[in-house]
Amino acid sequence: MRYHECWAWGENLLKQAQIPEAKLDARLLMEHVFCVDRSYLLVHPEDEADPGLFAAYQELIRRRADRIPLQYLTGTQNFMGLDFLVDPRVLVPRQDTETLVEEVMRELQDGMRILDMCTGSGCILISLLRYSNGCQGVGVDISREALLVAEENAKRLLLEKSDSAVFLQGDLFAPVSGKFEFIVSNPPYIAESVLPDLMPEVRDHEPAAALNGGRDGLDFYRRILGECGGYLKNGGMLYFEIGYDQAGEVSALMEDAGFQEIHVVKDLAGLDRVVYGTYLEKKTDKQTGK
Ligand code: GLN
Repeated sequence: MRYHECWAWGENLLKQAQIPEAKLDARLLMEHVFCVDRSYLLVHPEDEADPGLFAAYQELIRRRADRIPLQYLTGTQNFMGLDFLVDPRVLVPRQDTETLVEEVMRELQDGMRILDMCTGSGCILISLLRYSNGCQGVGVDISREALLVAEENAKRLLLEKSDSAVFLQGDLFAPVSGKFEFIVSNPPYIAESVLPDLMPEVRDHEPAAALNGGRDGLDFYRRILGECGGYLKNGGMLYFEIGYDQAGEVSALMEDAGFQEIHVVKDLAGLDRVVYGTYLEKKTDKQTGK
């Protein structure tokens, strides 16, 4: 079978399974299996495909037709220009989350300490460390399995800087000590009642614990804001990724927790995606002289 025939076969099967981007996904799986790039496929459509590789391609197409996310089949997702390893132990990094990293990068200075709460694949923390100098980071997740992926990503993407990232397993702040200039977090924020309506790729294959934000989706914001005061330096900053309709509620929760200069940032689709603010310790009676 020739390359263009393999591609058409894959596209057709994915279309029948109502996969939204059938042609694109069929091509990306071709690139992955046959180790070719897009331009090679366009220039050499008549090349004969290796039969063993075609069998492997057929298998991946069938799994994609079962709604397994493409990234779990190729094993990677590009995020901030870096190729992160991903598998069903972690949520696939989303482009929306790059907005969070870009906002933090505006304020991050050399040598600062960053805490990434609910780190998953480690994509936020590792990007921040990769694109800064002398910073140290701690990534926390309740899932030991997810942390294995994060550690592997740190080793591969931070290279000689891989010591700058430490990953701790535990329930939010339980395993954390010390104070940080930055806390960043993309916590689970989907309201429980909405989970059944997610795309089958997300609902049936991504880790539910990375998505479920409780009854109103805000459980983790409340818990993190309730505890973060002990872990942020005075004047430190907290950055949250949020759902498109959570900016008002999360901003109000931040204000109640003592944050000032609270800002909401939109993602590339124009939806509210990040809320951040500056933590100012409440003055004690002694400091105010009262
Ligand atoms: N943005 C993700 C989604 O829509 C949710 C990520 C999260 O809960 N942190 O699937």
